[in-house]
Amino acid sequence: MQTADVKVKAVVTRAVPYNESDMIVTLVGVDRGVLTATAKGCLKPRAKLRYAAEPMNFGDYVLSGRNGRYVITECSQIESFSKITTDIEKYYAASLVLETLQKGSREANPDLFILALKTLDTLAYGEEEADDTVRDFLLGFLDISGNGLDFAHCNVCKCDIDSNAYFKDADGIVCEHCRGLDGILIDNVTRAYLAKQSNTTHPLKIKSNILLADFVYMTTGVRISTHYFTEQL
Ligand SMILES: [Zn+2]
Repeated sequence: MQTADVKVKAVVTRAVPYNESDMIVTLVGVDRGVLTATAKGCLKPRAKLRYAAEPMNFGDYVLSGRNGRYVITECSQIESFSKITTDIEKYYAASLVLETLQKGSREANPDLFILALKTLDTLAYGEEEADDTVRDFLLGFLDISGNGLDFAHCNVCKCDIDSNAYFKDADGIVCEHCRGLDGILIDNVTRAYLAKQSNTTHPLKIKSNILLADFVYMTTGVRISTHYFTEQL
């Protein structure tokens, strides 16, 4: 059986143990989308490619195999983002980024790949609170997928919104006057936070980001269900 090497710049989004010392690694490649590959023997002591199977690892991978069955043969690490693992809130935020990257990359999605890398970089080296980074990432993902939401203006009458707003499938974010008979309520504290107009508490930021993730699901079909939400409420 012929095999061919695949070279890909990729991020590890998931890794699960397999057999005694192998890992099954899910990779998202900048120009390939989601790939699955085995990291053979990487759980053995002093395994050379251990880091290649760590979630968040970003590197130049060489995979060997065919028809979607690959083995990782080489990896030249570009960035581990391992600093993120020292802060639990940033770690949860990073898990949300990885899940979104994987689910949003069934086809190659270079814009999302770049947004995810920038976000991991901010989580590792930036001063921003993790919740704010998650908000900005989800807003960026909506923009990339052509579903950008503006929480500062009504999408129908274009007024500046300074009170409760509403989300409607057909219209996006609208004001009280334009809501009609339906629409999902966005209270003003949540709205102002999502519009980047004001700060709020950690629990309210989480609640705001859960609502934002609901809008992501309704507009893009990507359902996000990470520890960022489940562990922090
Ligand atoms: Zn309006």
